[in-house]
Amino acid sequence: MSVTLKIRTQPIGSPVIHGNPYSVFVVKEGYAYTDKDGNMKADGSITLVKGQQVILVDTGNPWDKGVILQNLETHGLEPKDISFVVCTHGHSDHVGNLNLFPEATFIVSYDICKRDVYLSHDFREGLPFKIDDYVEVFATPGHCGSDVSVLVRGTEEGTVVVAGDLFEREGDDGSWQLLSENPELQAKHRDKVQDVADVIIPGHGAPFRVIKEYEPVL
Ligand SMILES: [Zn+2]
Repeated sequence: MSVTLKIRTQPIGSPVIHGNPYSVFVVKEGYAYTDKDGNMKADGSITLVKGQQVILVDTGNPWDKGVILQNLETHGLEPKDISFVVCTHGHSDHVGNLNLFPEATFIVSYDICKRDVYLSHDFREGLPFKIDDYVEVFATPGHCGSDVSVLVRGTEEGTVVVAGDLFEREGDDGSWQLLSENPELQAKHRDKVQDVADVIIPGHGAPFRVIKEYEPVL
């Protein structure tokens, strides 16, 4: 007898995932839709990962400054308290507010820098960049040529992956390919992330659970 893995998903229904030492907060839920006049409207998810380090994953578009500052204030944080800013990729709805964070180390796609000092790190070889034992940044290209995702261990929901546009939203199975620079590569990394994640925070939708069920094949 062998087993097959079936994956299904389910919305978590909350912008907050508590954990120890890290909790994850969706600052702004990303979206993408066509309005009644036929305009394509989109903005990327902005996520705060708060624990030993304070990490912001993606910074929305240039008009999201207010929402970010306001949300940080509710956590008792100022922009200078952000130790890492990770941008999953370089599109304008993910990198709109980098200059709000004077003390941060920036990881933008495969670049890591603090001010004008660049750290060399081999994302291309698949090596994750460990912020500490609980949080790491790893390469998940496909949507663009050099996307990264952020993995957070030890939350009450298990392992959370903030995935940028690797996942547009829950149930995007037939649509993500249209926005992909390399669908084959993206499919590979989507599988990998679904394997390790208990929750995925997508680039343009609400957080969702990844439920793995092993079914016997008789
Ligand atoms: Zn994008």
